[in-house]
Amino acid sequence: MKHFLFFCIFLFLSVFSFSQDIDYARRVIDSLCSPTMHGRGYVNHGQEIAADFIAREYSKDSLLFWGENYFQTFSLSLCTLPGAVDFSIGKKKMKPGINFLVSSSSLSINGTFKVIKFDSLTLSSEKTFQKFMSNDFTDKFVLVDKNGFTDKKRKAFIDSIIEYNLFYSKGILVPEEKLVWGVEDALYPSVWTKIEMLKKNAPRKIKKISVNIERVINPSYPMDNVIGYIKGNSTPDSFIVFTAHYDHLGQMGKDVYFPGANDNASGVAMMLDLARHYSKNKPEYSIVFLALTGEELGLKGSFYFANNPLFPLSNIRFLINLDIAGTGEEGIKVVNGTMYPKEFDLLTTINDEKKYLPAISKRGEAAISDHYPFYSKGVKSFYIYTLGGITEYHNIYDKPETLPLTKYNDVFNLITDFIIALK
Ligand SMILES: [Zn+2]
Repeated sequence: MKHFLFFCIFLFLSVFSFSQDIDYARRVIDSLCSPTMHGRGYVNHGQEIAADFIAREYSKDSLLFWGENYFQTFSLSLCTLPGAVDFSIGKKKMKPGINFLVSSSSLSINGTFKVIKFDSLTLSSEKTFQKFMSNDFTDKFVLVDKNGFTDKKRKAFIDSIIEYNLFYSKGILVPEEKLVWGVEDALYPSVWTKIEMLKKNAPRKIKKISVNIERVINPSYPMDNVIGYIKGNSTPDSFIVFTAHYDHLGQMGKDVYFPGANDNASGVAMMLDLARHYSKNKPEYSIVFLALTGEELGLKGSFYFANNPLFPLSNIRFLINLDIAGTGEEGIKVVNGTMYPKEFDLLTTINDEKKYLPAISKRGEAAISDHYPFYSKGVKSFYIYTLGGITEYHNIYDKPETLPLTKYNDVFNLITDFIIALK
């Protein structure tokens, strides 16, 4: 009986101390996406509040740090929209986030403006185009209707017209099927205003709009990477590194914030869960946890760390970047899978044996997330993201309540198995 009891305890420990914790992941995602974190951006100190939260989680797991604390701080100049973001078509007030988005680097503006339409008819002949361009655009908005531009060349032409505002108008209005927001640094703050509006809610004819937008440029915004590690048992000078960006888009105006549940509260949750796991199950290698900032501004935090590492990058045995880890119905994609065939084979062999995921597909190098600054300096790395399920991205609907975490446990187990098998 006594032996049986010991056996049960052993079984209990081996199941629970070696496994992931999806409830913990849920709690982390809920916290990171709550209104108190303001979308983990640069309005109302969202980024800093999220960084403090992550540091508290690190200290609960007794993670070590380099220097005085978990933070690596640098600064950036960036554009924010902390105040008014009002947009009315005629007398109808549009809902920010739902009906429209204002490009984050847009120039401050307040007034009522005439709207003139640019569409495929404008480009039907040299004459119609010349006639349109002879307009005085100084106090007007141009509505660019992309409908009807089907061939690639024309589409690219329209995109460049919008990007550089070749009308030199007060602003540009673009109806879109889906709204996707982004944040920008203040290297080239815009001298005009861009508004994207949801096509299905936009009136057919737009003659006048009223716009009130307050842009604030922060010349020196404090940015924090949050870094902790666990010392390895047998080869402490060899590092496995996990990266996940915790920043998101923050707020657009006073009332709208972007929760960023899949992008990338999900990846941070898995990274913190891995920290918990390795703090209980001491690893062979040292394991580093890099919660990176400014990814949405152009991989700023990861470039900063890769250029100012706290340990030699050559000591990194392997790096895994987690950015979008909340679904998995269709498996995962491995960026750099084709660059490191040996490691990719190891991953698929484990998956074939354990049947974790329905598919693991690979692609080549891609400068689309935080692994890239490391990879470009010769660090062996994979960027893993989940496929299938919800597709909400960079909008107000990327929320925890719709995030399925379908294959969360499987991805977690695949990664820990992979680290053990990595020789
Ligand atoms: Zn992301």
